[in-house]
Amino acid sequence: MKKVHEGIYQLVTPFPEYRRQEAYRLREELPHNPHLTKGLPYVLPYFIVSRGDNLLVDCGWNTDDAHQALQEQLQELGSHPREVRNLILTHSHPDHCGLAGRLKAEAGCTVMMHEREVDFMRSRYLEPDELLKRMHEWVEKHGVPVEEQTWMERASMPVRHFVSPIEQPDVALKGGEHISVGDFVFEVVWTPGHSPGHVCLYEPNHRLLLTGDHILPVITPNISLHPQQSDNPLADYLESLEKVARLKVDRILPAHEWDIDWFQRRLEEMRAHHEERLEEMLRAVGTEGPVTAADVARRIKWNTGPYDELPFWMKRAALGETLAHLRYLVGQGRLREFEADGRVYFQAV
Ligand SMILES: [Zn+2]
Ligand SMILES: [Zn+2]
Repeated sequence: MKKVHEGIYQLVTPFPEYRRQEAYRLREELPHNPHLTKGLPYVLPYFIVSRGDNLLVDCGWNTDDAHQALQEQLQELGSHPREVRNLILTHSHPDHCGLAGRLKAEAGCTVMMHEREVDFMRSRYLEPDELLKRMHEWVEKHGVPVEEQTWMERASMPVRHFVSPIEQPDVALKGGEHISVGDFVFEVVWTPGHSPGHVCLYEPNHRLLLTGDHILPVITPNISLHPQQSDNPLADYLESLEKVARLKVDRILPAHEWDIDWFQRRLEEMRAHHEERLEEMLRAVGTEGPVTAADVARRIKWNTGPYDELPFWMKRAALGETLAHLRYLVGQGRLREFEADGRVYFQAV
């Protein structure tokens, strides 16, 4: 990979020289707020240029700094945000889609995202009050006391501020489409789990896989149950890992951290991580009687500290992650789930 400028790397060497066939990795710093970025310092959009056409994959938070970084880096490559023709969002988390509305207004680009992310984006960023109401009911039934629920308003406000959403994408993807950008042909691979409509982009001729947040080199992406997820996101995620495991890939290009050459080994580590986590959850449920997800989250060891001492936004993530694993164990027939007096309980079978 060749460094062409600070933060910009050329991934594919133009070959033959007369055919402009280039893929670049850009870099945008995320806002300095651990509550918003969960400790991730930057996001990596990818810019593909070939035969007069171009494609931007993910675009970063809606901040002036991020927009400025994008503009400087595109200018370095002889382009400009106004000249972006196609924008694909791997999913609708703010670090990936934040600038989408602004770029759409500026460039009139064709915005593509998976159809399952459209509702997600609308409810999160355009109709947040309704979502907040559903969130309150949801955490209540999973055992979070009313006095702890105040964190949700505080958590939802700043995120909205950093997203310029779009009402509808120009193209709602389903997975399996082929998107041509000059000499590149990307296949859309639907990889639900981290988000219900997450997509990866596979370029078989260059043996590249752009993985968004589906596969990262060190962090294991957060797989959470919440009111906007499917019923069993961990099952979706593990299936999505197998879907990409079959692809012929030389280089994995994720949206955070750095690229991965050890693809199969990384897949193995991620499967093992969730296996261990499932066993830990099972032990935390115990055999003494029914427990809520909040009870289980309290008994689980979190890298960031005990559940009761976590800041509010981490508590929500911990609860969602606990529930994703509990629901998976229910699907395997190892736990029973039932509702009583408005609360959801889990119990060993
Ligand atoms: Zn994400
Ligand atoms: Zn991300």
